[in-house]
Amino acid sequence: MPPEWVLATHNRGKADEFRRLLAGYPATLELSYVGGAEVVEETGSSYLENARLKALYAARISGRPALADDSGLEVDALDGRPGLYSAHYVSGDAWENLRAVLLEALETPFAARTCRMRAVVVLARPDGVLIHAEGIVQGHLAGYPRGTRGFGYDPAFVLPDGRTMAELWPEEKDAWSHRGRAVRTLLQELKMAPPGFA
Ligand code: IMP
Repeated sequence: MPPEWVLATHNRGKADEFRRLLAGYPATLELSYVGGAEVVEETGSSYLENARLKALYAARISGRPALADDSGLEVDALDGRPGLYSAHYVSGDAWENLRAVLLEALETPFAARTCRMRAVVVLARPDGVLIHAEGIVQGHLAGYPRGTRGFGYDPAFVLPDGRTMAELWPEEKDAWSHRGRAVRTLLQELKMAPPGFA
């Protein structure tokens, strides 16, 4: 029997996406199921360091491989903000953060509102061995939020076809998204990884 993986996140949107992206791979367990009540402090200075902290915490408390991501929105006209601080840019509230970013970019014309979402995913074993992968999706920051699906900055992230991430069906988001790209690359890495992950 392959070991079950723990999803090292308290973010419902991320957990749902991971579960869809991992269909056919080892079964996944919620962090709460393995006793992971703690919110790991994101003290790292990169997405990779933060994803590593979250994955290792979950792997160690559960004794199983654990999957984490650290991700964010990078707006070029805002010098890459909110970036690493996407989850807590002005507060812990996703709508307040979204509003703050849109207000900061108010004077920027659409053509100059280039941005990207970036995710670094880490799969860690309890002994500290890990593999990781990055995924990026390029887009533009919307003038106002559109769409009701997804989470976080999805209503403000415009794809090349003009829709926001929040206007996509879940499977479409998985095909486009930074997280989808990162997880697909990670699953390729897994084929060459040392044993004990799956
Ligand atoms: P963290 O990885 O826990 O630091 O949180 C990342 C934050 O970036 C989330 O809380 C969202 O605000 C934002 N974010 C990450 N991925 C997405 C996404 O797929 N859609 C929209 N916002 C996202």
